Amino acid sequence: DIGWIEVICGSMYSGKTEELIRRIKRAVYGKQVVQVFKPKLDNRYDETQVVSHSQLKLTSIPIERAEEIFLHLAPRTQVVGIDEVQFFGPEVVSVCEALANRGLRVVVAGLDQDYQGRPFEPMPQLLAIAEYVTKQLAICVVCGNPANRSQRLVDRGERVVVGAAGAYEARCRKCHRAEPTEA
Ligand code: ADP
Ligand code: MG
Ligand code: ZN
Repeated sequence: DIGWIEVICGSMYSGKTEELIRRIKRAVYGKQVVQVFKPKLDNRYDETQVVSHSQLKLTSIPIERAEEIFLHLAPRTQVVGIDEVQFFGPEVVSVCEALANRGLRVVVAGLDQDYQGRPFEPMPQLLAIAEYVTKQLAICVVCGNPANRSQRLVDRGERVVVGAAGAYEARCRKCHRAEPTEA
């Protein structure tokens, strides 16, 4: 089998998780054997399910490190999905490569920019090695234009603040501020 890597990227609320779920569900209609993974730290909505902001859900395996995918990988699996892939370290890049080289279809979704608008590693590396790249846009909640940035609303001084409700909103380039703004 020929494997490949698909990356779905964009800001928060841009529909990355919805699109990942859509692709995985279509693979299941096609009788493909799928496994979906997500970082354990993302337990916002559910411990084991991938959940979109619009409440679409998909069963997944929570893992702490990307290499754990190899421990869980069933021999018959043909499609691997990973949500919130930016929460894994740089080693997720070689894990995706290895899976694709084995002939698996690898579909990953993640934030391409952090809350200050900087590239969110390892997304630049994944975008570079992927066969297919989809960049999604949300709607700016300030002006209504297409939004490619995630505005942090609370100051926690860290790069990773898992999106508790009200912690982030979608903003366009013009309305985004690198410093957190009170809503
Ligand atoms: P992501 O995984 O990129 O954060 P989700 O797939 O979880 O996004 O959610 C996308 C959904 O969020 C949209 O289909 C819509 O129902 C909802 N939504 C809420 N706020 C916005 C916004 N500002 N722009 C676009 N969609 C939004
Ligand atoms: Mg998501
Ligand atoms: Zn705007």
